[in-house]
Amino acid sequence: MKPQVIIIGRPNVGKSTLFNRLVGKKLALVDDQPGVTRDRRMGDAELANLQFTIVDTAGWEDEDPDTLPGRMRAQTEVSLEGADVALFVVDARNGLTPLDEEIGRWLRSQSVPVVLVANKAEGKQGEAGIFEAYSLGFGEPVPLSAEHGEGVADLFDALYPII
Ligand code: GDP
Ligand code: MG
Repeated sequence: MKPQVIIIGRPNVGKSTLFNRLVGKKLALVDDQPGVTRDRRMGDAELANLQFTIVDTAGWEDEDPDTLPGRMRAQTEVSLEGADVALFVVDARNGLTPLDEEIGRWLRSQSVPVVLVANKAEGKQGEAGIFEAYSLGFGEPVPLSAEHGEGVADLFDALYPII
């Protein structure tokens, strides 16, 4: 069975864009409006000679994030069962939010290895966000532009030792 890589992060950070980039097709809906990915989507991904199953999620989008039941349901929906590694995606352009920190805490309570991805890192505007992402405590973030296809080699380097 192929290794499974699950994409986790708050709404609008570019999870579905990254999913599409890794699958090489537009299987997931990308939108400026948070909440467009209604269910988990899986696809076959290839990164150089790495082949894996990639899972797009929207667990922090479907419910009012300010209510405890909403959060609990959301977290259940992004169950990491079967995942070999989680790509924790943050937005280098718009900075960290309390939800990023909450997702980070949740991921830390799980046993899956985490690769932190600072997406939207293209250009000058991404630089501060890449630096800020260190504070989440998952080590060096992989700077990426899912939209422009930049940083994919670094993502390979981060995934290769794990899967
Ligand atoms: P999701 O909610 O996390 O799945 O995010 P989406 O993939 O739907 O993307 C949300 C928005 O961010 C869309 O407008 C994308 O075009 C945009 N986006 C995604 N990746 C990048 C990137 O690398 N750079 C920039 N500037 N925008 C991006
Ligand atoms: Mg999405």
